Formats: sequence, C-alpha cells, structure tokens
Amino acid sequence: MRCDIERIASATEGRIVEGSALSAEVVGITWDSRAVTKGSAFVALVGQRVDGHDFLPQAFADGAACALVTKDPSEEALEAARRTGGAIVMIEDAHRALSDLASWWRTQLSGLVIGITGSTGKTSTKNMVAAVCSSCGPTVATRGNQNNELGVPNTLLSAEADTRFVVVEMGMRGQGQIAQLCAIARPDWALVTNVGESHIELLGSRDAIACAKAEIFQGIAANGLAFVNAADQYADRLIEVGGHEGRGARTVFFDGSPDAAARRLRAGGDAPCVWAENVALDENGCARFDLCATGFPQDGRVACALSVPGLHNVGNACSAAAIGFAAGMAPADIARALSRVEAESGRQEMLRTPRGSLVVNDAYNANPDSMRSSLDMFAALDLEGRRMAVLGDMGELGSFAVECHRRVGAHAASCGLDLLVCVGELARFIAQGAIDAGFSEDRVRCVGSADEASSLVEGLLEPSDAVLIKASHFMGLERIARRLVG
Ligand code: ATP
Ligand code: MG
Repeated sequence: MRCDIERIASATEGRIVEGSALSAEVVGITWDSRAVTKGSAFVALVGQRVDGHDFLPQAFADGAACALVTKDPSEEALEAARRTGGAIVMIEDAHRALSDLASWWRTQLSGLVIGITGSTGKTSTKNMVAAVCSSCGPTVATRGNQNNELGVPNTLLSAEADTRFVVVEMGMRGQGQIAQLCAIARPDWALVTNVGESHIELLGSRDAIACAKAEIFQGIAANGLAFVNAADQYADRLIEVGGHEGRGARTVFFDGSPDAAARRLRAGGDAPCVWAENVALDENGCARFDLCATGFPQDGRVACALSVPGLHNVGNACSAAAIGFAAGMAPADIARALSRVEAESGRQEMLRTPRGSLVVNDAYNANPDSMRSSLDMFAALDLEGRRMAVLGDMGELGSFAVECHRRVGAHAASCGLDLLVCVGELARFIAQGAIDAGFSEDRVRCVGSADEASSLVEGLLEPSDAVLIKASHFMGLERIARRLVG
C-alpha cells in the first residue's frame, strides 16, 4: 500500500491527533512492531498478551510514518512522534480500520485478485496458484495461513497498485464470514477447493458448509471466473448458490480425480476444464500425471511432476493450473511452476530422524478429509520398513466428533499400517473405528499426550520405518516430530 497520511485518516474515519506532514508518503502497514520499516503505518492492536500501544515509541524510532491507535497515546509516544515527524491517527476499532483501509486500497489495485476458500487444501492450493502466477508476473499471496479478518486485509495491503496477481486465502468458521472477506477483497476470480466436514460444528450440515463457501462466488463480477472442483459432490450446489452464472460470470472446472476423463465425457458441455490423466506416484509419494486442459485460450496436454506428496495434490495442482490456463499461460510454464512448489512446515513435511527413519510431519492441522488424504498418501509411499501413524484429536466437529473419528479409524484400518497410535480423548474413537473395521487390536495403542506418543514411537522406530503424525493444531503433535528428528 502507498498513500499519504490524510488518506489513511479518511479511509479509516480516523482523527489525526499528532503530526503535521500529512502529505508524507506511507508505504506498507503492519501491526507487528518488529516489522516496521521506514515509512510504514503501524497499527496498535490490543492482543491478549501484548498491547501494541506499548510499542509506539519503538515503532516511530524504527521509522513509522504514522501510527493508528485506539487509546490516548502516552507522553513518550507523542514525544517520539514529534521527534521523528510521525503522525498519530485515532481510530475507533483497529480491525475495522484495517478492513476499511484494505477496502479502499483494493479500489487502487489494477491486477487480478484471486480468492481461494474451501474446506481443505486452501494453503496448499494458494501456494500452487502463487507459484503459477509468479511465473507470469509480479504476484503477492497470503503469507502462511493468514486467512482471517486480519490476514485478508494484510494480504491486500501488501500488494502494490500494479501487482499483476493478488492471491488471497480466505478461511471461515461460519456463515457470512466469506461474504465479509469478499466485501474487502472483491475477488475477480474465486476458487473453492472442496466442500468437506471441517467446521461442521458451527454450520450444522455439509450443505450449509457448501452454502457458506458459495459466498465467494456470490461477489464475483460479470467478467469474473468461478473455479469449481468437478469431482466434488457439492459442485452443482456451489454453482447454484453462487449464482454467478446468472450474472454472466463463467464457471471453470478442475478435476484431479481418477475418473475425471469419464466425468467430462458424461457431462458434455463446453465449460473450460483442467484435469489429470495417467496419474502415478513416485517412490516419495509425489504424483506425476498428464495435465490436460480444454476450453482455454491455449489448450494442451503437458507432463507434470509434483514435489509435494499425496494424490490430493493432483486436484490442488489442477485447480492452480486452471488459473494459469485462464490467464493465458503456456502449458509448459504452468507445469514447471507446479513442479517447484514445496511443502510448508508441518504440512506433509518429509523429515528424517538421525538414524534415517522417515517422519511425515502433518501435525499442523487436521480434519476428517485431510486425515483420510494423509493416510492415503502415507499408504502409497514405497517403504521397506514398518508404517506407523500417530493420529490425534480433530477439533471443531461438535456432535459429529465421535462419528467422524470412528470413520477416520475405519479408513486407517485399510491403509496398511503396522501400528496405530491414538493420542487424546477423541482419538480413542479412531482406535475403536479401526478395530471395528478389522484392524488387529494388538497393533493399536491409545495414549494421553504427545510426550507419551513420542516415547512410544522413539522406542520402536527402526531406520527403515516411517511414521505419520497428524492431529488438529491444539494437540501440539508437532512436538513429536521435533523430538524424533532431533
Ligand atoms: P486451514 O483451514 O488450516 O487453513 P487449509 O485448507 O489451508 O487448512 P492446507 O494447510 O493446505 O489446508 O492442508 C492441510 C492438510 O490437508 C494437508 O497437510 C493435507 O494433508 C491435506 N490436504 C491438502 N489438500 C487437500 C485436498 N485437496 N483434499 C484433501 N486433503 C488435502
Ligand atoms: Mg490454510
């Protein structure tokens, strides 16, 4: 973001309480005092542990051109602002000010804003979309997993007016939240990875989840594109509730499933589509396939080899490729960009213990769909030794929790595991589901904590063995990966 201080005050309906150089240029905005650089705007957020107002003097000393505050600044802060020629803008609500500023900045962006939501695979897809777009022009994408009411404005505000692609991950926990994020980001193109079961606790049904995801399509303009997973059971529902076709916007399909070609034949129609054929996994569980596209400015078929494991990434890659094809990129450039994408920390990260055992650290987060896809990916690895899975509780499933854990257990029973370690109260139902599905009871252990699971696995792990670690974030199972890897 680039603007002057007066603009910041008007966009946020703020009151300038200190400062005179109101036409001074502000470049970028942050609420992390450590990230302040010369000319930044610093937003003083009041968190649970830290109050940004305490860092005002530091922010000015580090070059902040202005600070947005919700409390009267201290004498020390005023003094620091005067000394450095900085301004202080009083606002009512810091979150709202960020959103307001991002909404205004969005009007200044000339590039393409691409919104991404879905139950599972948003960050993985966002990374692939960012890689594809970057190979074509300057791109700004959500950093890490910053997909909420702070992260979305932050992503927009990190773009320059002429950034060609702005890729925005959007998370949600309830109805109306994607609509709110879309009111700020106003995506030109929008992509829904899939409709699964995460956050079912708050939404009540999978159909309600689909409707909440479809909010991303409700906002796209007549010249917009909606990227829909043709393999998803809720594809038609997303299009119907999204209503974008009624406004003249078009649907683009992607399909990473094995029956993609057959589905296309059945469906007929001429909507653009990207799909995968001849999918095979290499010895690291990474997919190779023919990336096929039709209905775009440049159609094609190109060999594609991913560096991230799991068949689910074929769908993610097809969706990112669909964006590339829609933007007119050449098939070979798209495939090259996709092949360079690597796993993020804690998401199917392939690590080694000092003795050489493979540790698949997928402990960053989990829901029933990602549990299943991880187990499938783990089952597909070419291994000489034993396969152990340490699975912990999945959160936010409410009254569906027991059943969802049982079903994951039943799925785990068919994944060629030699040992299943279940961590936590709910994970006991994973154990139960596995045993009920015929998995031998003496290959199941239930433990109460990550530390207990670490000790158990550490004592058993031979160099040729592999262990998969996965649970919701609050379970803290990444500790196991850290301890095993040393
Ligand atoms: P969050 O809600 O935490 O932002 P997310 O939607 O961004 O999650 P990712 O972080 O990309 O999801 O992936 C989480 C895990 O889900 C991955 O480690 C992987 O196991 C699995 N996963 C990724 N993509 C898919 C997919 N398309 N289908 C099923 N599982 C997937
Ligand atoms: Mg994410």
